[in-house]
Amino acid sequence: MDPTTFDTALLIGDRFEPGEEAAERVLNPRTGGLIVEVPEASPAQIDRAVAAARAAFEGWSHTTPAERSAALLAIAARIEAEAEGFAALEALNCGKPINAARGDEIPAIVDCFRFFAGAVRCQQGAVAGEYLAGHTSMIRRDPVGVVASIAPWNYPLMMMAWKLAPAIGGGNTVVFKPSEQTPLTALKLARILAEVLPAGVVSIIPGRGETVGNSLIRHPDVDMISLTGDVATGRKILDAASRTLKRTHLELGGKAPVVVFDDADLEAVVAGLRTFGYYNAGQDCTAACRVYAGPKVYDRLVADLTAAVQGITLGQEDDTANEIGPLISLRQRDRVASFVERARSLPHVEITTGGAAMGENGFYYRPTVVAGARQDDEIVRREVFGPVVSVTRFTDVGQAVAWANDSAYGLASSVWTRDVGRAMATAARLRYGCTWINSHFMLVNEMPHGGLKQSGYGKDLSAYALEDYTVVRHVMVKHG
Ligand code: NAD
Repeated sequence: MDPTTFDTALLIGDRFEPGEEAAERVLNPRTGGLIVEVPEASPAQIDRAVAAARAAFEGWSHTTPAERSAALLAIAARIEAEAEGFAALEALNCGKPINAARGDEIPAIVDCFRFFAGAVRCQQGAVAGEYLAGHTSMIRRDPVGVVASIAPWNYPLMMMAWKLAPAIGGGNTVVFKPSEQTPLTALKLARILAEVLPAGVVSIIPGRGETVGNSLIRHPDVDMISLTGDVATGRKILDAASRTLKRTHLELGGKAPVVVFDDADLEAVVAGLRTFGYYNAGQDCTAACRVYAGPKVYDRLVADLTAAVQGITLGQEDDTANEIGPLISLRQRDRVASFVERARSLPHVEITTGGAAMGENGFYYRPTVVAGARQDDEIVRREVFGPVVSVTRFTDVGQAVAWANDSAYGLASSVWTRDVGRAMATAARLRYGCTWINSHFMLVNEMPHGGLKQSGYGKDLSAYALEDYTVVRHVMVKHG
């Protein structure tokens, strides 16, 4: 693509303007080459974006649900109409296979806006009534105010949809900061948002976390901060939020356990792990990366998974053949490689496939299986965020559940068994925001996505996200 065709301007209110600070180099993860430079927002531009959101709030927060719904539907239709362009841009910026961007992500993004267009018109609440004689009480759900939204690089446009749709659907205004590594689809969507929404309802200000992000979360006129990102960033946000008691919505990392009982359908388990452990090159907070296998099934699982993972296609010239792409950056690839090297140095660990970077160009890392990992090993405990799955043998269900729960994270988990009673009993004991049974990774816009423990507490998707982006208020009327 010709660099002059990329949108690089910030959206502040209803104006597009170049960032006033240093340019960030946006790289193509497939080649390591430069795609385009995007100058980041200056402190004055951040102030103007927040002021535009504040000015827009009065009008936007008093629109009807039907009006906000119509805007969300219009955004969905415009993304759908430009699906090819969005998919190509996301694939270029993230190194995702075009088929994944086009076939998986864009339809889910369009559906997210459509789901919230419906949901804002049918919110539920407590019943109005005379809870004190001579007084009528009613519950309102009102917007929080100006939301600072901060997104990661792994699913840039999808995370933007997850954040924008419930926030603006709920009547808030938003200043959105994409990841400095993946701002391109956000800046393209800005053109559509500027046409569909009143000025200032959404502003888009790209830039780095330590500069633009840091100023935004400390801004006195921001009422709420929403982050999808790292646990360490979540802590910084809580620290910044404490000064003015801003509301926070945090979706942080994960280290999903996959409990495979001896009676599981092993073919389905292996197919599931091959897909859900390595999708998006494992750069997914729900990735099926921490397998606990029953004593009878362990050896076959390791052998079959190793063979299956060797067949994952990546790095092909013809991108339509690729199942996964490279990692987002050289830094991320080196980080993944160092996790695997430290695991390899342990006497009980065997890297049965992968375990090396790949190719001359780009940020590729071979899909990797780490067998024989133990509960206390770093590879089992820390989020790798790459195409690496560890397998650990357990002896009984009590140990499997204890190990699965023995994690700082609490986002996603899965249980694989043919025994429905065992599946339900195990799911009931897992402390994770989501547990899949005989599956993993599948999300729908109607159901919540979010974690426990250090995975954060914000719910994305579903009516629960609308709750997170609105506040409950009580109005009481004295009769006569
Ligand atoms: P990150 O926390 O480094 O960055 C996320 C965003 O925060 C970026 O836009 C970044 O610029 C910004 N940021 C960084 N430092 C900041 C600061 N001091 N102040 C304000 N903003 C700041 O995370 P990442 O590396 O982009 O993304 C990967 C992480 O996100 C992983 O840990 C992953 O598990 C997590 N993640 C979680 C979910 C979820 O739903 N729970 C989804 C996707 C990614």
